[in-house]
Amino acid sequence: MHELSIALSMMEQIEQESAKHRGTVRAVQVRIGALAGVDCDALRFAWEIARAGTPFAETELEIDQVPLMVRCPQCGETREAEMFAIACPRCVTPEQEILMGQELELRSMEMET
Ligand SMILES: [Zn+2]
Repeated sequence: MHELSIALSMMEQIEQESAKHRGTVRAVQVRIGALAGVDCDALRFAWEIARAGTPFAETELEIDQVPLMVRCPQCGETREAEMFAIACPRCVTPEQEILMGQELELRSMEMET
């Protein structure tokens, strides 16, 4: 499962960060873009598996879903797009500049000391 390896690599990052600060990590916030190719439910499930038996067994995963935002290089229109209907509805230009939606990142951690 692709999401499990994502959960594990997030956990590695959290381990490194929390080692610097010393404390209990209550929650972590991640940003997942619509284009990141991550199934958020699968990621939540993978997190449950990944955290079991680790110092992060109580750490909550909070997912911030980022919509796909594109800009048309032809007419300059900026809008939220559907993943499979990316072409500009105004001038029908198929290639759109992606402004956001590709994120897959650890945004912040909530620590308790
Ligand atoms: Zn356009």
